[in-house]
Amino acid sequence: MRALQLKGLNELVMTELPLPEPRADEVLVRTGAATICTSDLHDIRHNPFGIRYPRTLGHEGAGVVVKAGAAVTHLAPGMRVAAHPVVSCGKCEECRRGYEHLCSNMGHLGLDRDGCFAEYFVQRADRVVALPDHISLSLGALLEPVAVCLQAIARAGDVRGRRVLIVGDGPFGNIIARLALQAGAAKVVVAGRSPFRLSKIPGADIVEDVPAKSADIAILAVSAAEAVQTCMQALRPRGRLVIFSNVVAPVPIDLFTLHVCELEIAGACNDENRIAASLECLNNKTLTLEELITHRLPFENWEEAFSLARDGHNRALKVALTFGPAS
Ligand SMILES: [Zn+2]
Ligand SMILES: [Zn+2]
Repeated sequence: MRALQLKGLNELVMTELPLPEPRADEVLVRTGAATICTSDLHDIRHNPFGIRYPRTLGHEGAGVVVKAGAAVTHLAPGMRVAAHPVVSCGKCEECRRGYEHLCSNMGHLGLDRDGCFAEYFVQRADRVVALPDHISLSLGALLEPVAVCLQAIARAGDVRGRRVLIVGDGPFGNIIARLALQAGAAKVVVAGRSPFRLSKIPGADIVEDVPAKSADIAILAVSAAEAVQTCMQALRPRGRLVIFSNVVAPVPIDLFTLHVCELEIAGACNDENRIAASLECLNNKTLTLEELITHRLPFENWEEAFSLARDGHNRALKVALTFGPAS
């Protein structure tokens, strides 16, 4: 099968690999669509998670089951499915405390095991769900991005009737804005730089400069360190900042303001098994999530797809690689 392997920094290459064999608790999926994530772009450029080369990237994928391991009961060959990339061990202290998404022996498609930028991929079956017929495979590939955005909303606390600021207009900021509105936020304001991307967020107010003390909740959906200040300054007393994006450089925080305004800062990483809730969102046409997939390109055009995802901020949000016609 053909697969996109990362062989070193900035060295993504199309390779021929043997077909993987599913273990008893896994399924082999013929990939139908796989979307490119901002984190794939970071992995290619900086490898922040220390991926060991060579590794097939890709963690947002959907397709058709072609083989199910002996212990798999809920999936069978021929079923259309979407995969969640996170595989927790179920045994470590975090898993036992109920925080499987923060597992200390976490497996992840495209990081410690081969991912879905390939014609076939395997995943543990409990992390794979059947897709209703009307959900396209490229929309199905958004199962995990939507799940992690649901986690960002959950970590924000009760958003009903509150003013939510989202800093970042990329695919994640875009999804979070939709989910915040759906969750009952009184007002959703998005700060970003791309007029195209901002135009894709129905119902949200768009700002260039964020007014001080204007939000109850600020969600950081961009990796720029200076955006943390923007979020902090935007919070009203008792406001909460959710750090959704990874900011790798240390950032100074105004703890005096945090103290006198009783502010809170919470992280949001992966998701607490929100597969079912995410599937409901994919099913919910009013969220218009399919509109986020601005480009569908055949797998062999992967170079064009990655350059669009990386540089096409004026015309692209989610870029899907497609494999065959029904995606
Ligand atoms: Zn992702
Ligand atoms: Zn664990």
